[in-house]
Amino acid sequence: MPDRKGVTKMADCECLATCPFFNDQMADMPSMSGIIKTRYCTGSNVHCARHMVFRTLGRDAVPKDLYPSQVERAQEVIDAH
Ligand code: SF4
Repeated sequence: MPDRKGVTKMADCECLATCPFFNDQMADMPSMSGIIKTRYCTGSNVHCARHMVFRTLGRDAVPKDLYPSQVERAQEVIDAH
């Protein structure tokens, strides 16, 4: 959400509670997962591949094994709809 100065505020992603990536439920958690969580999950989810699918197609359309960095795959999922 941009504030009055147009600066994007850091905010927790609304998917935190149920997101398998954030909750360490994915098969191969990347070694950088902590950094990704800080950047995306509690920072800005705009560039998260999982969130791209979630906000475009809804929660049920997000592949279980899609990682936040797989933006191209997210776009393919979106384009296929
Ligand atoms: S991985 Fe993406 S969808 Fe999941 S909590 Fe983090 S920013 Fe949100």
